[in-house]
Amino acid sequence: MKLEMEMICPNCGRSIEEIKSDKRLGCAFCYTVFSDYIEKMLKMSQGTFVHIGMAPKKSEKKERLKNAYFKAKKALKSAIKEEDYEKAHQISEDIKLIEEQLSAEG
Ligand SMILES: [Zn+2]
Repeated sequence: MKLEMEMICPNCGRSIEEIKSDKRLGCAFCYTVFSDYIEKMLKMSQGTFVHIGMAPKKSEKKERLKNAYFKAKKALKSAIKEEDYEKAHQISEDIKLIEEQLSAEG
């Protein structure tokens, strides 16, 4: 089990502590890296979250990847809208990574 202090997104270098303090993710890949924490946070703040407890581990991971994928697509759109092309490029790289993982999952 990883310590929260050691959790850092390998893509953008954002730590769990930073995400906790301003509730912002550095990149789309953070969704997959910090998925456990994000779920916990969503449960606490909203009381509702898609319940996937009954799903087997593999499809749970796929669900998360799919979720991250759609969120990344959304983030990409808004980055383009904001003309933040550096961010848009970063996000499209993340999308590629997520797509690779998704196809590996079958
Ligand atoms: Zn990140």
